[in-house]
This record gives sequence, structure tokens and C-alpha cells, in this order.
Amino acid sequence: MPKAQLQYLADELQRLREQGLYQRLRILQGEQLPVARFDGREVINLSSNNYLGLTTHPKLKRRAAEALERYGVGSGAVRTIAGTMTLHMELEEKIAQFKNVEASVVFQSGFTANAGTVAAVLGREDIIISDELNHASIIDGCRLSRAEIRVFPHKDVEACEKVLKEIEGRKGRKLLITDGVFSMEGDIAPLPQLADLAEKYGCIMMIDDAHASGVLGRNGRGTVDHFKLHGRVDIQVGTLSKAIGALGGYVCSTRDTIEYLYHHARPFLFSTSHPPSVAAACLAAFELLDEEPQLVERLWANTRFFKAGLAKRGFNTGMSETPITPIIVGDAALTHQFSRELFEAGVFAQGIGFPTVPKGKARLRAIVTATHSEEQLSSAIETLGTIASRLKIL
Ligand SMILES: *Cc1c(COP(=O)(O)O)cnc(C)c1O
Repeated sequence: MPKAQLQYLADELQRLREQGLYQRLRILQGEQLPVARFDGREVINLSSNNYLGLTTHPKLKRRAAEALERYGVGSGAVRTIAGTMTLHMELEEKIAQFKNVEASVVFQSGFTANAGTVAAVLGREDIIISDELNHASIIDGCRLSRAEIRVFPHKDVEACEKVLKEIEGRKGRKLLITDGVFSMEGDIAPLPQLADLAEKYGCIMMIDDAHASGVLGRNGRGTVDHFKLHGRVDIQVGTLSKAIGALGGYVCSTRDTIEYLYHHARPFLFSTSHPPSVAAACLAAFELLDEEPQLVERLWANTRFFKAGLAKRGFNTGMSETPITPIIVGDAALTHQFSRELFEAGVFAQGIGFPTVPKGKARLRAIVTATHSEEQLSSAIETLGTIASRLKIL
């Protein structure tokens, strides 16, 4: 029976269907692999964030299974009461060491790491200066903090400085925040220039390295390492859900900042900690990054191969500098048709339109991983070309 008080939700869904924006969930039947089975069809998978193929890595699976057998399926409490296990502390120490910082703290996800940290370190009297393409979790954190939010145009360092000049002398703290790698464009933040501005204008400098962790820098140490800005970025967030292959997020900073978060970050205080198996898998992943540097090298070799193939075909891949490769189409309906026909032909690249990207900039978003073979990538490029020609996209 439809409930009258919920009818407006059904109406909204109907509106999405009429506009061709209704999205069914694709079901992954089996493991997250470079060729995987979704909705009963075997496809070349260009839609996961599984950069290094770690979701199914034998070492991670073994360590997760051992932890599961030894410590059970859950932690049973939030971190601040009874839910801090030895494995959580070991993982945080490992991350701090890997990132060459004083301390780190793990959250349930990259989303809660960002939102929880921004909301905890700033308050109503403060100001946040934020790139317009920053991730939703940063935006939510900014809103939860109740600070004033000043958005600057994407990667526009001059516009950012203009904002900083406008608010010079205002009381309250300032936070300059950016994604390291932007999730829809695949471009890299102008971090050296932003770090200069943060120093010049006395801002806390924070970076969200979700798509740079395990991807950029030595052995995947992230954007700060990529630009050799050690010690100049106050707060680094990373995710354990993408290249690391499992689930979670982490914050790196000074020991005092981390202990402050223990006391003030609400997801840390009020939501249960990771199951031991997840912490163990993540720990194994960080060991692997140092043991097997060829994983990150293969990721980049595949990225160069894929981008060169697309360029040769005449595709517009925007400003991408990383494995995230947008294939810009423009029209949203055409993009979704492109994505559907590709899927039927055995290539899975998600179509993305407004409001995730601006109107008129709809695109496929393709992500290369270390575990794709050149054959698979060549075959995907071939199929992309054939269907794009048929739809008059090329
Ligand atoms: C995916 C993503 C997050 C969230 O990470 P999860 O661990 O999946 O919650 C945060 N920031 C950016 C830029 C992301 O792309």
C-alpha cells in the first residue's frame, strides 16, 4: 500500500525516470576484478576504484581470514569505549610511518574521516576556503562545522588568493582545503601553490587524498609526497576503500591533532570501529605497497597506455593526469546511451551527468587498474571507438 506521507518520494523517483536520470544499481556477481560479471554479463571493468587490484589479493585475504578466526567478526564497541583493538593501533602506527607523519587515526570510511575532521577542527566563527570540485564529504564536513564557506573556482590559485585577501584580518581560524586528485576530472591539485598561500595567510592546510593514496608519490604515498611537500600540509586524509582495497579512511597529522580528534570527531566517538579482519587486511596492504612497488608502476604504465589509445582515437579526456580518465561527451542522455551500449558490448564505464558534473559536461568515467592486461585495455579502446562512431560522438 502506498503511504500518503511518503508519496512525494515516489513522485520524485517518477520525475527522475521521465528525465532519463533514474539509475538502477548494477549487481556485481563475484569478485571485483578487471574482467567481472555484472548483471549477468562479463565485462571489462573500467568502473571500480580498485587501483591496485587489492580487493582480491591473496595476502590481504589470508591476513583478514586469520584475524577473523582469531578475533571474531566485530569489535563490539566504539573506539573511545571498548572498541580499540591492538590491530587498530598497529594499523595507525603503520600508516603514520608510511606517510612520514607523527600520528594517524582510522575512521570507518574516507567520508567520515573528512566530514568528522572538518567539523571537529572548525567552528561557527571560522572560515573554510574550498575548491569548487571538492568531494561531497568535505562539503558536508564544512556544513556541519557551521563555519563560513568560501568556494574558489577549480584549481584557480589566483582566485583562491583573492578570497584570502578579502578575509585577511578577520577573526577566526582559516582552513584551506582541497582534494589531491579530483574524483571526476582526474586532475591533480596545485598543492605547492596552495601550501604557499596557506603559509602566507596563516591557514590550516588540509588535503583529501582519497584518489591519490596508493596512486601518487613514492609507493603510493600520496600528493604531499608527489610534490615533496613534507611538513607543509597540516592534515592529510586518505582512504582505505580504494587502492588499499578494503574499507575505511584515515587522518594524518601531529600527535596532538590526532588526540584532539579522539575527543571531538563525532564518527570516531559515536560509531563502532572496524572489524579486526578489515584492519588486518589494510595493514597487509600497506606492507604490500612497500614490498611490491611494481603494482603502482603497472598502474601508471596501464594509465599511459589507455590514455594514448584514447587520444589516438580522438577522444576528449579533459584535464586528466591520473588513472581516472573522463571521456567527455557533453549531452547527458547521449552519455547514458553510450554507457548502456558499451555495457551491452562488454565494457563497463559509468556515465556521469548533472549534478555530479556541470550541465553540458556529461562524461563516461573510466578507471584503469594495475591488474588490467594491455589486451583488455586495447579491446576496451576498440569497443569505445566503434560505439562512439556509431553514436556520432567521435
Ligand atoms: C571516495 C572518496 C571519498 C570517500 O572515501 P570512502 O572511503 O569511500 O568513504 C572521499 N573523498 C574523495 C575525493 C573520494 O573520491
